[in-house]
Amino acid sequence: MAVQETKEIQKLKGLVEQSCKIVVFTGAGISTESGVSDYRSKGGIWDRFQPVTIQEFLADEGKRREYWRRKKEMYVEMRDAQPNAGHLAIARLEKSGKLVGVITQNIDGLHQKAGTQKILELHGTNREVICLQCRKICPFDPIYERLEAGEDIPLCRDCNGLLKPNTISFGQQLDPEVLELAIAWARSADFLLAVGSTLIVEPAASIPRLAKRAGAKLAIINRDLTPADSLADLVIQTTAGPVLEAAIPASL
Ligand code: ZN
Repeated sequence: MAVQETKEIQKLKGLVEQSCKIVVFTGAGISTESGVSDYRSKGGIWDRFQPVTIQEFLADEGKRREYWRRKKEMYVEMRDAQPNAGHLAIARLEKSGKLVGVITQNIDGLHQKAGTQKILELHGTNREVICLQCRKICPFDPIYERLEAGEDIPLCRDCNGLLKPNTISFGQQLDPEVLELAIAWARSADFLLAVGSTLIVEPAASIPRLAKRAGAKLAIINRDLTPADSLADLVIQTTAGPVLEAAIPASL
């Protein structure tokens, strides 16, 4: 969908053109246009159901059953979702050689489906399942088949340990290596573009500040206001896809 080239889009285009070390930070808002539920927002999955924490998952069989039931439902939505104009525009940035990488809060794998390769997934990925005992990782698909066949709490076939989607659950720490690299990327950037994140939870709240303090320009595209807006060189309050498509042309 084409949008009228507004002053805001022209300014964003200018920031992209002038920069050569761009870091893109994305949250759930970029994937809602692909039909993926923004599960932390109002009306989202966690608004309708209490989240299962890692501690509950480990301690309580009933919670494990509940967790897998929800994950099974989410997996179908994510497996069938396709990247939208925003994901594709960000993938073009990588092709142009200007991108340090994408830091995402999303677990849906849509950036990779769009072709992005340099990516840090702060909250892990729903495309994989990990054994909490032997740490073996496998794709979600074969586990989904086992759920469909009637298993409600799948166990590792190598060691009988508990399996869990390879995401960071509530109550679980982020991977320190991933976080450290995300911070290093933010500090190295000359332009940080935040898309579809409310920039409230950590480390999302800190990353734009770190980049800004290290001298980067900052642009924020989000449907709602964010606490970092006052720091930004540009704030565009809208859905991201059409804006990114217009600001990041194919011939960059
Ligand atoms: Zn195992």
